[in-house]
Order: sequence, then structure tokens, then C-alpha cells
Amino acid sequence: MNQHTIDVLKPGAPRPCPKSDPAAIVGGRVELQLLTTLKCNLKCTYCSLGVGEVLGSQTQVGYTIDHLAAFVDKHLKEKEVYVTFYGGEPLLNGKMIQEVMQRFPLFRYQLQTNGTLLDNLPDWVLHKLSNILVSIDGGEETTDGYRGRGIWRQVIKNVGHVRDRVGGTVTARVTWGRPDTCFEELDDLAESFDYLYWQFVADEHYFDDSVAKRQAVLVQLIDKFFRRTDKLYPLIPLMGMVRNKLFPSRATELYAGQTQCRVSTHIINVMPDGKIFPCPDMMYVPEMQQGDIMGNWLRRSPLQPHPDMPCEGCEAFSWCRRNCMKNLYLGYVKNDLRYRTNVVEPICELIKFMGQEIDRHNPAEWFAQASLPVRNQVIGAEVYEYCEIMP
Ligand code: SF4
Ligand code: SF4
Repeated sequence: MNQHTIDVLKPGAPRPCPKSDPAAIVGGRVELQLLTTLKCNLKCTYCSLGVGEVLGSQTQVGYTIDHLAAFVDKHLKEKEVYVTFYGGEPLLNGKMIQEVMQRFPLFRYQLQTNGTLLDNLPDWVLHKLSNILVSIDGGEETTDGYRGRGIWRQVIKNVGHVRDRVGGTVTARVTWGRPDTCFEELDDLAESFDYLYWQFVADEHYFDDSVAKRQAVLVQLIDKFFRRTDKLYPLIPLMGMVRNKLFPSRATELYAGQTQCRVSTHIINVMPDGKIFPCPDMMYVPEMQQGDIMGNWLRRSPLQPHPDMPCEGCEAFSWCRRNCMKNLYLGYVKNDLRYRTNVVEPICELIKFMGQEIDRHNPAEWFAQASLPVRNQVIGAEVYEYCEIMP
């Protein structure tokens, strides 16, 4: 990704310490995303932590479990907390994962992992996980192309190895970077994992016919989603968009009307050194710092809707609700025209295209005929609470 015209937080730079805001978290839920390390054992070519040289910059956790407990006590008391272990590769610091799970037994837990070290996890940890997001890019050729030879096989083997011992669900998390990613490889993941979530890559991969190629795959995915009413085709972005179109109040209630990736309301990313940011892709930007574990302060997310963002006049607004605030911030507030044209606008075009394709299948009629388990999943799948919905 290109470097944007924003200041980068230098290691060792003095930490700003604004006053805490008791209403920093909106609503009764909070996602505490703990980055157990910024090290990773893979070198994915598109890794967003490569921007601002965040990846690998912190290998040790600089705060203690008692610091974290004091922070939770001061800022998250009486909230329903779900923790996502994140990185780098979070399993490179499995000790911290176990320590946190033991210290906070009432929290819900999710793990975001590249899947290569999954087989090292003890059974009691696997049992407690509500969801595991396994990063994978598609089929073998696509995944190994980004992640290195043999990784796809290793991940699939590890998932098979732990699957029966995971308490909750296992979700394939795809960054859709390659324009040539085909229907069959995404379909394979949707059929073999509990859910498939994808995000359109936030990088300059939308030239020439690349948007049209992705649209052709989306047509097939959306067509398959609506083909059956007795069994869910578990694609989170499609489930979420259909939910948002049919039940608009669900599109807003968990997020106070703001973005469904939760960065404006109730997700906080704690870096290994204890600094807190709303979006894990913007931890190199000093003005985005939202709090600090050791200083025990927290303010409202600085990543908020801005009048320069185009969403309120957009045909997709009622169900998209500002897909990615990072993209909107860089493209319209920081006015990075290259990023806006080459990344943000093509992604918005794909989102609007998905909305039109969904409408073509008459989602209300499909929903009315769907079995109760399918309807329940579409309306209220638990995974919506700790996974982004929009791609
Ligand atoms: S499609 Fe783009 S412009 Fe429209 S609401 Fe979503 S993020 Fe905003
Ligand atoms: S979707 Fe949300 S969390 Fe993800 S990169 Fe965008 S702003 Fe950040």
C-alpha cells in the first residue's frame, strides 16, 4: 500500500495523554482486541501491518495482566466483553492467551490466526473459543502465492486437527486480493468452514478488468446464496447485507448507527506496548491513539464520520453504513486522491454491485420461504458481534 500523507508514530515518541472519557465506549458491549505480539511467522505480501512499519516492531507485551485488569475495572465495568486475540500471529504468544482466559472467565473469546500454529493449543483453550478466524486467501495456488509454499496444506490440516475440539465456529477469513480468485475456491471454503468472511483488499489491485472479474464471481456467489431456503450458504457479508436490507434496525442497533466494523463505537485494539487504537490498520498514526493500558485512560474513538465522506448521499448507505472507516478517512478526510481513486471507489463500486445483485433475487421472498434455522442465522448469528460484516 502507498504511504499516506500522515505523521507516523515513532518508537519511543512521547505519548499524548488526554483525559479519559467515561462514555468512550458506546453501548453495553465492547470488543477488546489484544495484539499479543506484532511478530509473525509468515510474510504475507499484502499485510496491512507493513504500512508504517508496524509489523514486527513490538515483540514483547509491555503491560502486565494486573494493568489490564485495572483498565478493565475502570473502563469496561458492566460491559459485555469479547476478546479477540490478534497480532502479528497471536499464537506466537500463547502464554498471554492462556493468562487472559484464566483471569477473565466471564469474557467471550475469539482468535484471529494464520492457522499454522493452531495444533499447539490446549483443549481447554479450544473449548472456550466462540470463533476462530483463520486467514486464508482462497485455494492452494492463491494462498501459497501470498503466504509461501505449503501453507495452504498446513492450515487445512491444522483446522481439521482441531475442528472437533473448538467450542464455537471456525471462519475462513479471506482478503480478496487477487482479481483471478475464482468462484470454486471461495465456494470450497464456504462449504468446508462454518462461515466465510471476505474483505476486498485495501490496496491498488483494481486496475483494468479486475473489478469486472470480481463482479463475475460475486454473481455466482450471490446466486448460490439464494438457491436454497433449507440450508444457509454461510457467507457473512451476504448474510449481513440481506439482514441489513430486510431488517434495517439490525444494521444499526449493535453499532449505534455507525460502521459495522465497530471502530467508531466499541472496538479497541491494544498494541503489545499498551497503546490503544480503534482500527488495527492505523496503529502507526499518532492522532488515532485512543487510550493506553498503563496510563489507564480511554477516550472516544477519533475515527468518526466526517462531512467530507460521501456515504450519506450514497444508494448503499442504509445497509452499508460506511463500510471501512479507514478507507473513508484516508480517501476523503486526508484527501489522498490516489488511494480514493484506486482503492476506495472501486471497493464502493463492488459494494453497490452486491446490493443490486441481492435485490435482483428478491431477498424478502427468499427470506419468507427460508427455514427457521436459516432465518435465525441471517437475523442474529452470534458471529456478527465479533466479525466485520461488510466486505
Ligand atoms: S458504498 Fe462506499 S460511499 Fe456508499 S455507504 Fe458504503 S462506504 Fe459509503
Ligand atoms: S473495516 Fe474497520 S477495522 Fe477494518 S480496516 Fe476498515 S476501519 Fe479498520
